[in-house]
Amino acid sequence: MTTDCVFCKIAAGTIPATILYQDELVTAFKNIEPKTPVHILIIPNRHITSINDVQPEDEAILGHLFSIARRMAAELGVQHSGYRLVVNTGPDAGQSVFHLHLHLLGGRRMPFRFEE
Ligand code: 5GP
Ligand code: ZN
Repeated sequence: MTTDCVFCKIAAGTIPATILYQDELVTAFKNIEPKTPVHILIIPNRHITSINDVQPEDEAILGHLFSIARRMAAELGVQHSGYRLVVNTGPDAGQSVFHLHLHLLGGRRMPFRFEE
């Protein structure tokens, strides 16, 4: 765990979050400030700062993040209505938590350009 990383702490269970799914590789939990009726975050349990820091050996984890996103979309009832997966990277994208995370957004029509 990386000290002072809020998402490392959520994955480790040391700060509270509404966790919807967890296994040895990833954790899915509700966003504390949802922008859409369904807005969850899916993270690798191991600290990866951003997409810029992904290494070839992380490919299995990245694939698993998408696989769990598909599963959560079905469980949350947006599989057919549609949903958006977003990964913000760096200042221009407005990344605010520097632990890689996949936003799963759904439950309403979204503008083409998503603004956090
Ligand atoms: P970013 O802008 O980095 O892509 O998104 C970070 C997201 O993490 C934001 O949507 C924010 O609401 C969410 N977030 C930040 N801190 C916490 C927290 O302590 N708990 C939860 N559940 N979500 C958080
Ligand atoms: Zn972290």
